[in-house]
Amino acid sequence: MDKSQILKEFSADPDKYYNVKLFSEQGFVRKACAKCGRFFWTLNADRTLCPDDGTDTYSFIGEPPTTKRFDYTQAWKQVEEFFVKNNHTSVSRYPVVCRWRDDLFFTIASVVDFQRIMGSKVVFEFPANPLVVPQTCLRFKDLENVGVTGRHFSSFCMIGQHSVPDLGGYWKDECVDLDFRLLTDQFGIKKEEVVFVEDVWSGGGSFGPSLEYFVRGLELGNAVFTEFQGELGQHSTLDQRVIDMGAGLERFAWITNGTPTAYDCCFGPINEKLFNTIGIDSDSEILKKYFTEIAKEIDHYDDLNDVRRLAIKNAVITDDQLNKMITPLEGIYLIADHLRTLIFAITDGALPSNVGGGYNLRMMLRRINGTINRLNLKLDIDDLIDTHIDYLKDTYPELDEKREDVKTILKLESSRYEESKIHMKKKAEKIREKGTPSVDELITLYESDGITPEYLKEVDAITEIPSQFYSKLSDLHQSEKKKAITELPLEELPETETLFYKDDPMEFEAKVIKVFDDQVVLDRTSFYARGGGQEPDLGSIAGFKVVNVDKHANIIVHKLEGGVPSEGDTVSCKVDVTRRSNITKNHTSTHIINASSRKVLGSWIWQHSAFKDDDHARLDITHHSSLSDSEVKQIEDEANDMIKKNYPVNIDYYDRGTAEQKYGFRIYQGGVVPVKSVRIVSIEDKDIEACGGTHVKKTGDIELIKITKTKRIQDGVVRVEFVSGPTAFQYVKDQEEESKKQAQDDIAKQALEKQRAENKDKAREQIPVLLEKVLAGESGEMDGITVNNKICFTSSDNYDDYFHQNFGKKLTSKDDTAAYCGIFEAGPTIRVMVFSGGNSGVNAGEIAKEISTILGGSGGGDAKFAQGGGKDTSKKEQAIAKAKSMILG
Ligand SMILES: [Zn+2]
Ligand SMILES: [Zn+2]
Repeated sequence: MDKSQILKEFSADPDKYYNVKLFSEQGFVRKACAKCGRFFWTLNADRTLCPDDGTDTYSFIGEPPTTKRFDYTQAWKQVEEFFVKNNHTSVSRYPVVCRWRDDLFFTIASVVDFQRIMGSKVVFEFPANPLVVPQTCLRFKDLENVGVTGRHFSSFCMIGQHSVPDLGGYWKDECVDLDFRLLTDQFGIKKEEVVFVEDVWSGGGSFGPSLEYFVRGLELGNAVFTEFQGELGQHSTLDQRVIDMGAGLERFAWITNGTPTAYDCCFGPINEKLFNTIGIDSDSEILKKYFTEIAKEIDHYDDLNDVRRLAIKNAVITDDQLNKMITPLEGIYLIADHLRTLIFAITDGALPSNVGGGYNLRMMLRRINGTINRLNLKLDIDDLIDTHIDYLKDTYPELDEKREDVKTILKLESSRYEESKIHMKKKAEKIREKGTPSVDELITLYESDGITPEYLKEVDAITEIPSQFYSKLSDLHQSEKKKAITELPLEELPETETLFYKDDPMEFEAKVIKVFDDQVVLDRTSFYARGGGQEPDLGSIAGFKVVNVDKHANIIVHKLEGGVPSEGDTVSCKVDVTRRSNITKNHTSTHIINASSRKVLGSWIWQHSAFKDDDHARLDITHHSSLSDSEVKQIEDEANDMIKKNYPVNIDYYDRGTAEQKYGFRIYQGGVVPVKSVRIVSIEDKDIEACGGTHVKKTGDIELIKITKTKRIQDGVVRVEFVSGPTAFQYVKDQEEESKKQAQDDIAKQALEKQRAENKDKAREQIPVLLEKVLAGESGEMDGITVNNKICFTSSDNYDDYFHQNFGKKLTSKDDTAAYCGIFEAGPTIRVMVFSGGNSGVNAGEIAKEISTILGGSGGGDAKFAQGGGKDTSKKEQAIAKAKSMILG
């Protein structure tokens, strides 16, 4: 929908859409900006320009409009105190990893906390009304601005003020009154300083007017009144109108401090630590001037590089000041910002990787590492993590619990970055030769080689980072979680009664509601349909084989083989009990393996996906590295320990909001649950998941779990394959038999080798005896040697290198009409050795060459002595036959 069109319509009737009680009570006047024409409300009758265009824009830098100073955490205390005093419930923040929406990786606004999916619709579920929440939001679109503009963050705290008027909350008048009093009464800002600007919001099929509030050109908050749905002109009022006021906590701190940047008052003691390492006075006049210029110009240019150049010019910054002050300062702000974001994301279970939302996290850590290298800083990241968390833990105690996990992940990820540097250096050299890459080429470089543009700039492969790089990358990876559903024409059909959630009979009768070719819909069924990674039940319906079962919305469709019953028939149905029992054991086992992996490996373990069939199952977990044998063993032992303890597996239904409040978002291991009543499967407090699958009653029913294989299937994801129940016992039996057979084979092989060695020793002793016989003119077979009038050939395994050398040499030196050829195995090759007395008519070199060629190798020597061989053992018989015919004729 065209926002400007809606704004035009709403601003044409301000009394209806914007004129709240506060305005007339206080005497606000409505004005149109002399420059841009936008409408705004002010107590200053002389004001002619909107906050974006005003002369007072950013004049709070160096001269804040309040007498009290509040830093980031203190500012929240003020906000919370104010709203609680005014009958709001203060709610803890929700995770920054958005587990409850399948179209978002990260929480991008406070209102997202309360949006749930119902079928294909977004509905609101508020745990209290009205409420206020300090929601940490992650946004990666403006990454290039972070550290540079003074007010852009990769994560920020959105103060969310939410109210549903029709369920006992308030609407516009009270909302704007509260926001005004928050600024004036609580923070002490003069009434005349506050300006409200008329705007609109639209998204997801709904829209409404909004009032943005500014103080000295800084937008502090935006009160959105989500009121209508449909197309403008044909719109109707929503069943559930919602107030969605979002304000930037960082900006509240900034306006009261008037520091050159918002970073100076929002990162706590970490700034001082960082300033000390580079020796900068953050309060200097130059910085105030420079950052005020940046703030004023930022909205007027598309390219950040241009803004920077202009600010340098206007604030009269020398090259020396730029290199020694501005550049290092920007780097330090970037490090503080990115590290804070990583702490929140990792605490909430995200991992830096090459996939999904992990992209942005890896990018940020690489930017931190790149900045540290570029500025040649000596920083202890662990120490910085501690400083951040110590400062934030008052507002966000959950960060404190995951302190060590955050350190572990960041350390590992940084060492990988160091390892990849050689590769990156080579790539960078190539780029330097080829000339400046395009934005798309830069994205490819990052995606396939992990090379950031910062790194390329650091090594002078590029001169500037294109301003669209981060927004483009973020577009590619922000919201790619989408799935498609295929549909049969099922609209008219009633919901199938799911017996597997009730008595779960393995034999039952049902009525055939509908038949599509070979697919059948019943009024009730115990056949579990494929879903949540669990494979379907098989069995029979009316004597026909069931080969597949799928669920389409609330209707279960059975695919049959060999025929179908008629619509209206009452049919008897049979579920394959053994298959179901095996699948069920495997399903509960995935929950157990998930819990034991988390216990052994760390809090970042989440189910990435799972698959449960009757004879095998797998669980893909989010983990940074391949598993070692000892880790696999520990996970397996831990899992079998849970089986031994025979914990009950409980299934309870909860209202979705209640389940989230009671158990947290860990319940969404298998993804989003698009229903109001959530089925919670819990194994004590070890594992609690929202899950629709079939489960055993007690963990002991599984009897045994064996992990058969693990593999790192992609960056950040490890696959654990396993078997359970009877299949696990079979697996153990097979393994034992396999190793028994292996042992037997080994013994037999050793015996054979020993026998051969003995034979070879014996053969050596036989040399003089055999020589005598051959030289005496005896012919025929002698101990595996074919003799024909002093011409001898053998391929017997009883003879080795030593035998052939000695026998052949001695024979031909004693009688020049004699010749000898031996073929034998030596390690992986087959060798040939040929001796000729000179008058035997045999050419040793020719035979060795020919045989070697057959065996895929080469031979050398002369007419009297030659040898060779090759590795192609499959040609052994052919080589023997050829050699025999060549020498014996
Ligand atoms: Zn204007
Ligand atoms: Zn499950």
